[in-house]
Amino acid sequence: ALTEVPLVVDNLGKTYRNGFRAVRSVSFRVEPGQVLGLLGPNGAGKTTTLRMVLGLINPTRGTARVFGRRITPGASVLTRVGAFIEGPGLLPQLSGADNLRLFWQATGRPADQAALDEVVRIADLGPALDRKVGSYSQGMRQRLAIAQAMLGLPDLLILDEPTNGLDPPQIRRMREVLRAYAQDGRTVLVSSHLLAEVEQTCTDVVVMNRGAVISAGPVHELVAAGGPTEFRVDDR
Ligand code: ATP
Repeated sequence: ALTEVPLVVDNLGKTYRNGFRAVRSVSFRVEPGQVLGLLGPNGAGKTTTLRMVLGLINPTRGTARVFGRRITPGASVLTRVGAFIEGPGLLPQLSGADNLRLFWQATGRPADQAALDEVVRIADLGPALDRKVGSYSQGMRQRLAIAQAMLGLPDLLILDEPTNGLDPPQIRRMREVLRAYAQDGRTVLVSSHLLAEVEQTCTDVVVMNRGAVISAGPVHELVAAGGPTEFRVDDR
């Protein structure tokens, strides 16, 4: 339905098996066309939240709904969601182009050459696209993995610290790519520990610290309120 909200996170919490409470309680929603920044220092619980939203780990409590569907671990990969999050994903013995083709088949998203060309442009690998991924630099691998998440232009794109480890020109490019991505009514959720980055990329922000949401709203309001420019490591 047209009224389906891309993402509704309701009272999500996660206590790891060692008893560590990484996420106490987190609620927020992402509307169509938003680029929502999940902002917080290292250890705030951003990655844990995204992993629950993607069904990669089980929440201790609460629910996440993606386009109205409740997320449970092991559920089939949602064809409407693309994700860039730490973990295996690229096959080093294959070329960048073959990685994209193979992954595309696996997603079940509609195949169309224009959409493939679009993510090839986003990856910005030039002739290296046809070389083995094993020969790539960290930044090249990261750009390929982000492009892979965008294959088929999913309605909801979720990225965990996508600019970490990219060089400054590529960081600027990637921020533009994410802003442009949401302009056709698609939706982006992106984590970051830098307010400046969220300011330049996002329309809205959810600020997390110590496993909880401490503030949320349109980015311009947070900036007007004089938020911190950079978060320090918060190891509790
Ligand atoms: P970062 O930017 O460092 O990834 P983050 O906000 O994404 O920060 P998380 O990765 O969600 O934070 O981690 C939150 C806390 O949970 C951290 O203190 C981390 O050490 C802890 N943690 C993460 N995974 C586990 C696990 N499997 N078992 C126990 N503790 C964990």
